[in-house]
Amino acid sequence: MVIKTQPKPQQAIIIEEDQSFDVIIVGGGPAGLTAALYALRSKLNTLLVEKMILGGLATTTYKIDNYPGFPDGITGQELGQRLENQVKKLSPTIVWGKAVQVKNGKRSREVIVDGKSYFGKTVVIATGSDPAKLGIPGEETFTGRGVSYCAVCDGAFYQDKSVVVVGGGNSAVEEALFLTRYAGKVSIIHRRDKLRADRIVAEKAQSHPKIYFHWNSTAEEIIGDKNVNGIVVRDLLSKKKLTVPTDGVFVYIGYHPNIEAVKGMVKLDERGFIITDENMKTSAPGIFAAGDVRAKSLRQVVTATADGAIAANSAREFIEKGK
Ligand code: NAP
Repeated sequence: MVIKTQPKPQQAIIIEEDQSFDVIIVGGGPAGLTAALYALRSKLNTLLVEKMILGGLATTTYKIDNYPGFPDGITGQELGQRLENQVKKLSPTIVWGKAVQVKNGKRSREVIVDGKSYFGKTVVIATGSDPAKLGIPGEETFTGRGVSYCAVCDGAFYQDKSVVVVGGGNSAVEEALFLTRYAGKVSIIHRRDKLRADRIVAEKAQSHPKIYFHWNSTAEEIIGDKNVNGIVVRDLLSKKKLTVPTDGVFVYIGYHPNIEAVKGMVKLDERGFIITDENMKTSAPGIFAAGDVRAKSLRQVVTATADGAIAANSAREFIEKGK
């Protein structure tokens, strides 16, 4: 019996039901694609599972300035596309769908994708993370009507308008800088008086004529009628509330790891990221993790790709040594 995979971009792959893979890679972002690249080059029978698009969250970043070898920077989209092209040259088997559960048996692992089971000697979890939500009134109501988590996707709608960015990390500040291409005014709302972002981008934003700061301030409510027209902000020092008029709110307050498929099976840190050793081994034998889903100190494309390469190599060693 054969199983047809989800009908998705130009690829109809047919997989034998009892076909077992050497490695199943869950997630097609930079970590998963690099794991696939290394696994395929090692001649491992490889299955890549991706729920949406190859390239991952990095494709929503306008420009990546710190990926080695690209002195003029590269757009997230182009880097994602190049990675995809590189992997596709090796004719990978791809299943389009959401991996809802990973099970660990003695000799093999099972990955359940949209109700179908795929078996692998090893699994690499490279499911990345999703943007964190503020959880304030109006956020859900106005998502898609002024509230956004992707400046690259939605920034162009705000030509000469006022927008607000919530957050103080690299994502918030870099995307605020990106938004100055379109918006007439970009206000950053940050809960402290110091940015978490790297100094080089922080200084660029702080000296930018279109960027304004609301320091020591939290966002309390997003308001509007049909679309967003303001955000209620509390000054944490004076305790006073004020309404900042705005046409759009971009939320960049960090990310939550996508660990639902392996919950209860691998050890997580206190924030829910998967704990691995330096070889990307999780607490479950034969299951490896790579990229943003993993507990680590530096979440960058370059560390994601490095994790992916190491995870694929560790999977190969696991298969060869049988442990
Ligand atoms: P992040 O570094 O965790 O920063 C999150 C920011 O949001 C912090 O400033 C935090 O404030 C604030 N925040 C968190 N929860 C909040 C809440 N409920 N309300 C208001 N503010 C809140 O996240 P990120 O900027 O998305 O970056 C994630 C990782 O990717 C980081 O490791 C970052 O270095 C990396 N990254 C790198 C680049 C690059 O190098 N090109 C670009 C983007 C991201 P506090 O500062 O007070 O904690």
